[in-house]
Amino acid sequence: MTTNAFHAPAPHADVSATARARLRTVVLASLAIVAATALPPRLARAETADEFVARLNQEFAFITRELSAAGWTQATYITVDTQLLTARANERFLESFSRAVTEAKRFAGQPMSPASQRALELLKLGVSAPAPDDPAKRAELATLLAGMEAKYGEARYCREGSQDCRDEVQLKAVLEKSRDYDELLDAWQGWHDQARGLRTDYTRYVALANEGARELGYRDLGAMWRSGYDMPADAFTKEAARLYSQVEPLYRNLQCYARQKLAQKYGEDKVPAGKPIPAHLFGNMWAQQWDAIYDLLEPYPGVSQLDIDSALQEQGYDPVRMTRSAEDFYKSIAFMPLPQTFWERSMLAQPRDRNVQCHASAWHMDGKDDVRIKMCTRPTYEELRTVYHELGHVYYYLWYQDQPYLFQNGAHDGFHEAIGDTVNLSMTPAYLARIGLVPAEAKPGREALINRQMKMALQKIAFLPFGKMIDEWRWQVFSGQVAPQDYNAAWWAIREKYQGIRPPVPRTEADFDPGAKYHIPGNTPYTRYFLSYILQFQLQKALCDAAGFKGPLAECSIYGNETAGKKFGAMLAKGASQPWQDTLFELTGTRQMDASAILDYFKPLEDWLEQQNKGQTCGW
Ligand SMILES: [Zn+2]
Repeated sequence: MTTNAFHAPAPHADVSATARARLRTVVLASLAIVAATALPPRLARAETADEFVARLNQEFAFITRELSAAGWTQATYITVDTQLLTARANERFLESFSRAVTEAKRFAGQPMSPASQRALELLKLGVSAPAPDDPAKRAELATLLAGMEAKYGEARYCREGSQDCRDEVQLKAVLEKSRDYDELLDAWQGWHDQARGLRTDYTRYVALANEGARELGYRDLGAMWRSGYDMPADAFTKEAARLYSQVEPLYRNLQCYARQKLAQKYGEDKVPAGKPIPAHLFGNMWAQQWDAIYDLLEPYPGVSQLDIDSALQEQGYDPVRMTRSAEDFYKSIAFMPLPQTFWERSMLAQPRDRNVQCHASAWHMDGKDDVRIKMCTRPTYEELRTVYHELGHVYYYLWYQDQPYLFQNGAHDGFHEAIGDTVNLSMTPAYLARIGLVPAEAKPGREALINRQMKMALQKIAFLPFGKMIDEWRWQVFSGQVAPQDYNAAWWAIREKYQGIRPPVPRTEADFDPGAKYHIPGNTPYTRYFLSYILQFQLQKALCDAAGFKGPLAECSIYGNETAGKKFGAMLAKGASQPWQDTLFELTGTRQMDASAILDYFKPLEDWLEQQNKGQTCGW
């Protein structure tokens, strides 16, 4: 089921949870169908809450198998028929979702075990846009959600009349590859202008989803989203702000350095000192990750580029061997071998004879050990990292397969994405040398280290303010603090505050620039990605400590360390069965998320940036 489909990491990272969120909805709804139609008549004695939860867990496990099968078949064999079957299933599930939650409401305040209490809470939070009870409004919300998604997917920018139309993928490619200011602006504006038509839909969706959230007992939808972290919503707001304040100085240093380099490229008149940077110059439609313009920002041009792509090709790495390499890593830390069915049923390479969704994803088919990945793997270093990332999801599934269905999830929604990324951090130059992909030389020099850290920072540090601000805007929209007539102005005010960027051309309330980012019309919470980026370094630090590693965090690989692996596996096995604070504590010895590990990791780069920024007018 799509519930359990996670997609690839950065740069696709943020696409990932979409399907998962949607599928989760699907599953929950399906539950209601089973409850309504497939069960034997109720016993005369009323069902207790614990019995109800036990029944949910069983029914989920049952229905998941069918949903996964439909979803997997569609994703690996796109035809009108598989699309129809999946769409039909989705519609039915969405319709009946609120019935499932309504049924759960009967047990509010009744005696039940703490585990059942937790399971029902997770059930309630399992949908990202709860529908109001009123059937007409419920139908309207479903139509709006599907419509916004369709409008986003169908958006095309046509420069001259209906000729020369380009979609999101093509416009994104311009942002990545062009270094021409006006060409970049044309693609940026062309894409952003397409979102205007979403504003009315979005405004209505906010009203309806808020109504649904209130019926579930939350102040508004933003408060509901923030309630998924085993702490009061307002406490979570503060916690997220605290985490951001830890990393903000590092981001501001990176932004200041990028500004200098972009000014050198495009001119001080276009990128003035001490001012926000035009948003279309970062190699990314949303300026969310900047690695596509590494060529403009490389600290020491040409120094020690590890050519891993060539090594993979020369050594004949095919998709199976790349996946074996990832499995070997996990086995080296005492994780179980992948089941034979993984190898028989996964799609590791792009088939020649049919259409498939190539976007990498990991699947938990049956709530047990039928786990798979779907990738069109090519022999590049980036894809090798993606395989290791996807196996992070797969191993989470395997470790928590003995949990009841409602606890088969990450400790909180930032954890699932963080696992494979944590393992990526162990793919150090020394590890790559050990598996024969780079020459085993003396330690790489400082210049090579700075280059490597810059490349990573353009993904991992540049993303932090973006990952934080998306939901900040939505929290204000859902709470009513930002009114519909101010949507766009508020969007840019928040982007400027966090990212230090500005729209490259004046924008007005005729525009709806938030709608140009998939997760806004796609109704996918985003804070999870921000948390995941902080958490993966914190987890890596704890694992390296467990491994007895001494030295700079950036040089630590836990490859081959069973002590670290056993602690890691024990954490994964907990799934969502207890508050994440307890789970985090068991691995790290602390109950708080903490950004000091990511700062520690990037300390060499931070020192270097401070040198580079001396005498510059930083800030905006
Ligand atoms: Zn992922």
